Amino acid sequence: MADILPKEQEWWKLVWQLGNATSELHDFNFIETPIIEEAGMFEEAAGIAKELVEKELFLLKTKEKKTLALSFCPKISVLRSYLEHRLAYFSSPLKVFYLTPVLKKVRAGSGSIREFHEWGFQIMGEGDPIYDGEIILAVYDFLKGLRLKQLTLKINSAGCRVCRPAFRQKIKTHYRNERERLCKSCERNLETNVFALLHCEEAKCKEVIAEAPIILDYLCQNCNNHFKSVLELVEDNEIAYEPDAHLLPVNDYGMRTTFEFFVSELRLPVARGGRFDYLAEIFGGRITPSVNGALHIEQVIEAMKLQGIVPHPRTKPRVFFVVLGDQAKKSALRLMNKLRSCGVAVVEVVGKKTLKAQLKSAERMNISLALLLGQKEVFEGTVIIRDMTSGAQETILAEKLVEEVKRRINSK
Ligand SMILES: [Zn+2]
Ligand SMILES: [Zn+2]
Repeated sequence: MADILPKEQEWWKLVWQLGNATSELHDFNFIETPIIEEAGMFEEAAGIAKELVEKELFLLKTKEKKTLALSFCPKISVLRSYLEHRLAYFSSPLKVFYLTPVLKKVRAGSGSIREFHEWGFQIMGEGDPIYDGEIILAVYDFLKGLRLKQLTLKINSAGCRVCRPAFRQKIKTHYRNERERLCKSCERNLETNVFALLHCEEAKCKEVIAEAPIILDYLCQNCNNHFKSVLELVEDNEIAYEPDAHLLPVNDYGMRTTFEFFVSELRLPVARGGRFDYLAEIFGGRITPSVNGALHIEQVIEAMKLQGIVPHPRTKPRVFFVVLGDQAKKSALRLMNKLRSCGVAVVEVVGKKTLKAQLKSAERMNISLALLLGQKEVFEGTVIIRDMTSGAQETILAEKLVEEVKRRINSK
């Protein structure tokens, strides 16, 4: 896990700005769910074997012997919230966005990180392929807005309950016949989670994967039509895509559209998503159409850095306040507030005692205008304005300060 430090702020601010702008443009509404949820919800939804739960989730035990889990999969929490608050009554479909930390236990050296942030878009309540398209477009517009280049969309259909069982059987048979060529972990997954085999990174398993049957040959009519419509939407919007026959969700609730966005500089995707209509059943509800697409923010920032994309620096503070003496400090704070409330960004380092040290800081920050306030000025109700480039100084009345500062900034 890692801290996000001030030196990274330009990247994060850009993400917030563009995320908000994209959400507004595409009409998504803000939602936030807690970073702690009951563990059982994730355990069941994750569709992973019980013994794996402890390996993947960060679990906490309460005094009351309840087991809680740290934010593991935001889209599950969002759907939980949608059902719990009966949000379908207010809007159908409901379109929401969120920015949430995700915490997963991962093997060291696997290239994944334990804590990352996800910016997600989610639409619930409508199963029409147009909403799969809307999610893909929102993610794409966000990534494009960040100026990421050469984005590739990998896309597939995971089928549904009607057509997937036949395919699952087919692929099981394929792997059983090749059992001796598989790695240990694939052999274990063979009976419990056969689609996980398609994600194995071992060279010998990759050969078996390449020969495996593909789901597109087994899709039912409805899934086929759905997938076609989504691809049409993708093409209409001129998004470069590659069908990826092996892109399948490892859980049971994932269905139909599943996608990932890549840049060539990174092995792992910068964003991913898909449809998961069956998930609501885990909460005791009916099948609820749901589709999600989420950006992995740390990956996105890494990709931007690799592509040489530099965020515009935040507006530099324009005025530096030099304060000398305790009495001046109080008056200075009032004057600084006055300037700030008029939209002028002000910095100070009043902790530094001497005039020289404070002026040096102003120079280091490359600020062109300094205001000097000492005991004498407080007494006279004046402020000294110093042009940092020329060194010229002028004493003005404190009540004229805002006016004068604005005049000087605007004339630069
Ligand atoms: Zn189907
Ligand atoms: Zn393997």
